[in-house]
Amino acid sequence: MSFDLIIIGAGFAGLTVANRAAELGLKPLVLEAGADELYRCNSRFSTGSCHVAFQTPWTEPAVLSKSIIENTGGAAREDLAETIGINAARTIDWLKDQGASFEDHPRRTDHMPMLSPLREMKAGLDWEGGGANALLQKLGAKLIERGGELRRGIRALSLIQTDGKVIGIEAISEAEPQTLSANAIVIADGGFQANAELVKQNIGCDISHLQCRNAGTGVGDGMRMATEIGAEAVGLDSFYGHVLSRDAMTNEKLWPYPQVDLICATNIVVDSDGQRFADEGLGGISIANAIARLDDPLSATTIFDARTWEDAKTTDNVPPPNPSLPDAGGTVIEAATLRELADAASINAAGLSVTIALYNEHIAYSAGPALSPIHTQTTYTAQPIIDPPFYAIPVCAGITVTSGGLSVNGRGQVMDTNDQPITGLHAAGSTVGGLEGGPRAAYVGGLIKSFCIGLLAAETIAAGHGSP
Ligand SMILES: Cc1cc2nc3c(=O)[nH]c(=O)nc-3n(C[C@H](O)[C@H](O)[C@H](O)COP(=O)(O)OP(=O)(O)OC[C@H]3O[C@@H](n4cnc5c(N)ncnc54)[C@H](O)[C@@H]3O)c2cc1C
Repeated sequence: MSFDLIIIGAGFAGLTVANRAAELGLKPLVLEAGADELYRCNSRFSTGSCHVAFQTPWTEPAVLSKSIIENTGGAAREDLAETIGINAARTIDWLKDQGASFEDHPRRTDHMPMLSPLREMKAGLDWEGGGANALLQKLGAKLIERGGELRRGIRALSLIQTDGKVIGIEAISEAEPQTLSANAIVIADGGFQANAELVKQNIGCDISHLQCRNAGTGVGDGMRMATEIGAEAVGLDSFYGHVLSRDAMTNEKLWPYPQVDLICATNIVVDSDGQRFADEGLGGISIANAIARLDDPLSATTIFDARTWEDAKTTDNVPPPNPSLPDAGGTVIEAATLRELADAASINAAGLSVTIALYNEHIAYSAGPALSPIHTQTTYTAQPIIDPPFYAIPVCAGITVTSGGLSVNGRGQVMDTNDQPITGLHAAGSTVGGLEGGPRAAYVGGLIKSFCIGLLAAETIAAGHGSP
């Protein structure tokens, strides 16, 4: 049996490429390392919000592209940012044609599309009844109807290249090596967030000090095999993730939700000396990256007061930490005074006292010297820490998916170190770099990155089908 294209990974990126290619008359084979029928992958675990840099896909394309470039501080590739802006709305329409169910985000007024059914607003991992799991199964079934194939329990190991063209892969299934060939190969293996060595090397953190807020299947195989044949990898030093209770490291009920992002972004996060170390106002993704870079990433604590804890009973889009966090066994320390709070949370009391005094002076009264680091207030309003009782939540960084990866152009082609496409090699989804990250760890959206670049890669392959 011969195939026009082989796709590595059967998450949303891989199954989008495969289905679109089959629609366009090609014969795809998808290889999936997971052997189970409901194999684990980030796509299956996802909450289903199909945003583009937190805006709806039907926002003006130029606005979307500009936000991507600006949010990443110019780190994103312009061609990729532009193509996401132009194709985002069409991507949602294509998914609807495949039978995807969407409903509006329940707490936003801009019709943000969410995969339906929505996950329940509760702590812990909860994917079985969700829209993402349903769509993944639907895309798998569609592929078979269209004459494509999905083989589980087979792991791609390396690429075969002759005369500058990628023509196949070496893989392994039940300890049996296999060689498979096709006109085009698509890498859709989902990033490197579960590879301890790559996380240490690129993000600079021991993975055992992070909570893996992911399926554990993204081990960087695709990036490794592509760079072995000369592909360029970019922006590897940041990740998309959230701030979680530190107890999530040992308590399964505390990830992927509740997040502590909003409390952190509107208050302070300190180390064991009571010192701030991040611009909390940049939000949870940025704070999680800053926590991961601490000498001791398991030493961060967020501090806030009674008013914030009351506000934490409602959040925009995720299960509110009050009361889901303590209910699920997460530590929330309460004390009548800041001194008692510091002692109970094992934080240097004198250091914390100075930090809070400066912060309050600046935030509540716009007085005193500028904070260092600053506390940006563009998206979130910083709250003074003045109303007892006072609270502390020991936190950790939850890593969901790496931001960087293979340099891919606006047509889903993998680029070499001279910024030229490698013939026959394509990529989609979380394995793609050059769209997210930058100085503030900007996030565009894992789902749109998978669906949209997946469509484009398939269309590029179909357009070039038959050429040498
Ligand atoms: C809890 C959670 C919530 C999320 N919520 C959202 C959200 O609301 N909105 C959003 O935009 N994003 C969200 N994301 C991120 C989003 O789910 C991912 O970025 C996206 O699904 C990635 O898709 P993918 O196909 O690239 O990777 P994956 O879905 O991870 O699929 C990659 C597949 O490749 C396979 N694989 C790996 N290596 C090999 C190999 N060598 N050979 C063969 N197969 C291999 C893996 O087993 C895996 O099945 C969330 C993620 C998580 C974990």
